[in-house]
Amino acid sequence: MTNQPDRIIIFDTTLRDGEQSPGASLNVEEKLNIAKALSKLGVDVIEAGFPHASPGDFNAVQRIAETVGTENGPTICGLARATKQDIKSAGEALKPAFKRRIHTFLATSDIHLEYKLKKTRADVLQIVPEMVAYAKTFTDDVEFSPEDAGRSDPEFLYQVLEAAIASGATTVNIPDTVGYTTPSEYGALIKGIKDNVPNIDQAIISVHGHNDLGLAVANFLEAVKNGARQLECTINGIGERAGNAALEELVMALHVRRQYFNPFLGRPTDSNEPLTNIDTKQIYKTSRLVSNLTGMMVQPNKAIVGANAFAHESGIHQDGVLKNRLTYEIMDAESIGLTTNQIVLGKLSGRNAFRTRLQELGFELSEDDLNKAFLRFKEVADKKREITDWDLEAIVNDEIQQPPELFRLELVQVSCGDHSSPTATITLRTPDGKELSDASIGTGPVDAVYKAINRVVNIPNELTEYSVKSVTAGIDAMGEVTIRLKHEGKTYSGYAANTDVIVASARAYVSALNRLYAALENRKENPDLALANQ
Ligand SMILES: [Zn+2]
Repeated sequence: MTNQPDRIIIFDTTLRDGEQSPGASLNVEEKLNIAKALSKLGVDVIEAGFPHASPGDFNAVQRIAETVGTENGPTICGLARATKQDIKSAGEALKPAFKRRIHTFLATSDIHLEYKLKKTRADVLQIVPEMVAYAKTFTDDVEFSPEDAGRSDPEFLYQVLEAAIASGATTVNIPDTVGYTTPSEYGALIKGIKDNVPNIDQAIISVHGHNDLGLAVANFLEAVKNGARQLECTINGIGERAGNAALEELVMALHVRRQYFNPFLGRPTDSNEPLTNIDTKQIYKTSRLVSNLTGMMVQPNKAIVGANAFAHESGIHQDGVLKNRLTYEIMDAESIGLTTNQIVLGKLSGRNAFRTRLQELGFELSEDDLNKAFLRFKEVADKKREITDWDLEAIVNDEIQQPPELFRLELVQVSCGDHSSPTATITLRTPDGKELSDASIGTGPVDAVYKAINRVVNIPNELTEYSVKSVTAGIDAMGEVTIRLKHEGKTYSGYAANTDVIVASARAYVSALNRLYAALENRKENPDLALANQ
């Protein structure tokens, strides 16, 4: 049997490896929102989490399996160490999914075997087939990863992979766990596996890698040229340390340069067929969703989804682009779903026009959320004459993609200037329904607001990141504020958009405090969960 696809399978691990980024932790609802967006984006496999890690992870994987793992939806995957308990948890969490995959892993490098696992090579050769066979009792679709493959003895690696495939692994994943490999080495590693594992044509070769040297995407593309057919990646490249290979970069490289990659997939050079199932027009929106919910900002010069990726500042470039886009652009901003920044709505636009434009932008809101967003739109339209697509997106993100409002900001007032101390007064409604007001002075207006809020909320925390950027050009532009704060070593993020940056700052702060407060309450109710999460 040979089951080699002639296209590239996109395996998204934003919710598993990506969520391991310091401070990117997401609640179940947020994970579900991201999973829905990934499904719309057209990823083939969603690695939804590590079910045995904690009851919270189990629950998230199960909810995603139920909601997103439908007949026409993606395969839902759960990670499991090569132990019976882990595999059983994954199997149970994934049960509601129409297509489900268990991804189990065990290290094969001597350094991991000796120091981390205290196991011999012979142990590994026994455990791997046993555990793959056990995973097979839950689903036909089993992926095996030899952890730290890049630093493993190739001869031993071939043996382990052969054993995994013989006992039923349908995908074998070759991780560059520590982000050390170079493209030509990685290509050679994949080629070696293709040439030396006798039953390799019965499994799909997958790659997973980290970006410690900025080489993850280049490594993967070299792996594709040598026979890899599945890429494990994350939106915006988030992930442990320097992150994973970025989905949007891989997909657009394969899209823009498809004629270069065609022959490696056995296609005629001039074929125009897409190499992945991704709907590239969903890329920008998914990127924004992930950065808003995780609080992991995208750097402006980031390839594909950075704010400057399609901006042409120099006069010569602008002139060229106006005459013919292709003079300096290798791809079209619209191909990733970036709409031209046109004025679409104004103060007099009605609810229907608002709803229609949101639908065109791909937002599907419940009636309730639509009402909330429409009220906000009217507020913004009163202050800002022209509402663009970007403003609409900021409004929806601000209004809908928020944690439950345990604390609610009722009022914020600031006085400042060059001859006075910035002074802020705030009123917050607390989770038990009380309205409390307080005031504080600060080094600047935002500092004063944050100090006043802290006096009411009274949970010690440290602000680790504060950033503000404008949604569009112009003096009346909306400002978006993203913040991250720390409490007992954990990071919580907040996001808000408003025509007034002080109001946006206050709302972003309250949003992060709501995430923090919910986590503390959750810990009180589920002490076990707290332990498992340590
Ligand atoms: Zn990883």
